[in-house]
This record gives sequence, structure tokens and C-alpha cells, in this order.
Amino acid sequence: AQFSPESVTIFERIIKKEIPADIIFEDDLCLAFRDVNPQAPTHFLVIPKRKIAMLEKCEASDKQLLGHLLFTAAELAKKNLRKGYRVVINNGVEGSQSVYHLHIHVLGGRQMTWPPG
Ligand code: 5GP
Repeated sequence: AQFSPESVTIFERIIKKEIPADIIFEDDLCLAFRDVNPQAPTHFLVIPKRKIAMLEKCEASDKQLLGHLLFTAAELAKKNLRKGYRVVINNGVEGSQSVYHLHIHVLGGRQMTWPPG
């Protein structure tokens, strides 16, 4: 994965509806859609509409938005992941981040293992 925080990512094109995605929720601040390469029976992403390249680029002024993303992830997970789920944010090269637009992964529908690889 290239670290390219300034370039346009595929997620910005999904936000603008330039390319299709299986969108499950949208409001003024965020968008949630199913991951194209799911790692669990349920795997969706929650992203801010305003681009933040990665978690480490967050600023104090982003605190409310970060809370909104996490709250939205929990609200959506409530609908069909009643036995539990995992929330993941990959940050940077060693975090295996591949798309440099902040996203929260929500994975569920199977038993997760720990520690992750
Ligand atoms: P990362 O590795 O950056 O944490 O995760 C990026 C995620 O975005 C991956 O799980 C990948 O499958 C997903 N992804 C990449 N491109 C697309 C796309 O065009 N559409 C959707 N729905 N998911 C994508």
C-alpha cells in the first residue's frame, strides 16, 4: 500500500456515487457500506464523508466526528450481530492500511480469533 494522504481514494468516489457500493447507511457526516472483499460473513466499513487520511491525522476538532463514526458502527452492528463483532481501524503501513481515507471495519457473523495476524 502506498502512503498517499493527498490523493483521491476510491472511497471518495464511493461517497460521490461515482462508483457503486452496497451502502447500508448514510447521513450528513458518514457513509457505511459493505466491504468488497469481506473477511467475515458480515463486513462493512464506516467512513467520514470529510476526508481524514488515517487515524493518526485526526485533530482535536475531529473528536465529535470520531465519536459519531464509532456510534454509527455500533448502531448498525446492533441490527444483526447480536452475538458480538469486532471493530478495527488499520493505521499506516504496519497497520496494513490500504485505503488512505479513514474507515472503521465492522466484522461479525463468525467467531473471531485473538490475537489478529
Ligand atoms: P484497509 O486495509 O485500508 O484497512 O481496508 C480497506 C478495505 O477497503 C479493504 O477491506 C478492501 O476490501 C476495501 N475496499 C477496497 N476497495 C473497495 C471498493 O472499491 N469497494 C468496497 N466496497 N470496498 C473496498
